[in-house]
Amino acid sequence: MRAMVLTGHGGPDKLQMQELPDPVPKAHEVRVRVKACALNHLDLFVREGWPKLKLELPHVLGSDVAGVVDLAGAEASDLPAGTPVMVNPGVSCGACRECLSGRDNRCRGYHILGEHSRGGYAQ
Ligand SMILES: [Zn+2]
Repeated sequence: MRAMVLTGHGGPDKLQMQELPDPVPKAHEVRVRVKACALNHLDLFVREGWPKLKLELPHVLGSDVAGVVDLAGAEASDLPAGTPVMVNPGVSCGACRECLSGRDNRCRGYHILGEHSRGGYAQ
């Protein structure tokens, strides 16, 4: 897939188009063919970086994604390929006490797409 990747922290000159391997969804995940991805201020913060931010480079920014499910993992049958989606960028384990009580933002595994994992500036 083609992706606009972040090659290091700094200005827009740190962004460049690259080919990356197509992501393969885990059993409970889906892969989304991105139709649109907004520019969130988080993208600017992450691009500029901060002292304790550790990213695997190249990184893919983009937390606000809309698209169509392209491939569903074995346990994600409720979202078959072809389903239009708007992605909630908050990702959590879905199984801990905090997640099951509706406070998924308190999950130890909570993260945001485009911040600590690859986001939607890609196909
Ligand atoms: Zn959790």
